[in-house]
Amino acid sequence: MKRIVLEEVMYECGVCKTRFPSKTSAQRCEKLPIEKKEFKIGNSVTNVSAFGLASEPRKPLYFTGKVIGFILRPDHIVETPRHRVLYTISFPRWGVRDMYAHHIRLVNRQ
Ligand SMILES: [Zn+2]
Repeated sequence: MKRIVLEEVMYECGVCKTRFPSKTSAQRCEKLPIEKKEFKIGNSVTNVSAFGLASEPRKPLYFTGKVIGFILRPDHIVETPRHRVLYTISFPRWGVRDMYAHHIRLVNRQ
């Protein structure tokens, strides 16, 4: 048996921590603008569609949860490449989900 140690050099974007095999890709990522945050940690939000549910229910299910964090994700494919904000939301009845802003909306407190 031979023990083989592979060494790999990766370059990490200083903004979103995504790792790339090339320095230029990481530099390109660092230059991407950051999407404006629409929600803050602690905000109560609800899903706007049944997005993410395994089986399509007859009636869409809407759950209320709380924003507990966010991470930045690079999006190089869209017309305007940018770092997008992926919100981590804790839904008491649905578990923890990562969702983009267009999948959630703020819940008005009475
Ligand atoms: Zn990045």
